[in-house]
Amino acid sequence: MPEYGLNPEYKVKVRLTMRFYSKTVLLALLALLLLAGCGDPAAELEAPPLPLPTGKAVVFRDPGGKEWPLFKGVSLDQVMEIMRKAGPGSRQGAGEDWQGELVFTAPGGKEHYDLYAGCIRHCGLAYALDPDQIQLLRDCFEREILEIQGLVRIKDLDDSIIIDLKYATADNFTGQVIYPAAVGVIKRETGERLVEANKIFREKGLTIKVWDAYRPFSYQQRLWEAFPDPRYVIKPESTPPASGFRARHNNGMSVDITLVDETGRELEMPTGFDDFTESASPEAEGMSPEARANVDLLISVMRSAGFEVAPTEWWHFNDITGEPSPYLDVPLEAFLD
Ligand SMILES: [Zn+2]
Repeated sequence: MPEYGLNPEYKVKVRLTMRFYSKTVLLALLALLLLAGCGDPAAELEAPPLPLPTGKAVVFRDPGGKEWPLFKGVSLDQVMEIMRKAGPGSRQGAGEDWQGELVFTAPGGKEHYDLYAGCIRHCGLAYALDPDQIQLLRDCFEREILEIQGLVRIKDLDDSIIIDLKYATADNFTGQVIYPAAVGVIKRETGERLVEANKIFREKGLTIKVWDAYRPFSYQQRLWEAFPDPRYVIKPESTPPASGFRARHNNGMSVDITLVDETGRELEMPTGFDDFTESASPEAEGMSPEARANVDLLISVMRSAGFEVAPTEWWHFNDITGEPSPYLDVPLEAFLD
C-alpha cells in the first residue's frame, strides 16, 4: 500500500470524466447529483443509486500531479477527510485555489463533464455528502478487486472494516512478527458474509476490527516454530492436506474479530486476543455484564451472517455456510500494491 502522505491542508476539486453519455443522461445525472449533494436529508436517503457506469478508474490527483487510486491506496473516506479538513472557507467559490482533483475516468475516455463542480460551488461537496451518500456514490463504482485463488483483501470488500493483524506485529503471544505484511485477506465468499455482519454492526454504531483472517499455510509453520506447543498452535502437516478440509484460517474461512465503537475504542469483551484461559470461552462464567452483552451481540450477528464461534475463543469465527476449500499458501505479500 502506498504511503498515505497527502497534506491534510490540500483542498479538493472534483471533476467527473467520462465518455459515451448522451446529453440527456448527463443532465439527469447532474440533477440527481445536485439532489444527492444539496437536497434535504430525507430526499438524499431515498435517492436511487446514481446510474453511473461501471468500469471506471477512480483516482485522487494530488497537487503534485500524483494519482492515488481509490479503493486501493487511498479510500474515498480519506479523501473526504482531507476535504473536511480543508475548512468551511473552501465551501465558497471553489475555484482555482482548490488543489487536487477527484477524477472519475472512463477507460480511454477523454471527454469530461464537470458534473460535480456545480454542486461544490453551490454547497461544498465536503459538507454535502453524508456517509449514506458516500456509500451511494461508492456503490456506483465497480471496484478493482484483486483476487488470487479465491482470496481477496477485506478492505476491497468493505474498507470500513478495521484491520489490525496481531501476527503482523510482535504484539501477540509469541512476541514475534509472524506475518511479513499487514494486509487482511479472506476467501471472497466468507468476506462477503463478514461484510453483511459489518453492515448490521454499523447500524448499531459499531465496526468489526479484524485481528486475524487468512493465514498462508507456510505461516502456520512459522507460528508453530515460534511457539511449538500444541495446546496453543495447530501443528501443520508437512504438506497441505489434500482432503478433509474444514473452515480454518488457512483457507481464509475463519476470522478473529472484535468490535469497536464510533470512536474506535474496542468494546469490553471477556478477554483480550489469544488469551488461552477458560475465561476466553464465550460460555465462560464470571464475565462482566457488559462483556456478556457485547460478546452475545457479536455472536448473534455473526451467526446471522453464517458464522459460528469457536467454543474456546470468543473472537474466532468459522464460516460454516460456505463449502470448506483447500488450504492455501498464497503469501500475504502478493496482496500488497
Ligand atoms: Zn482464529
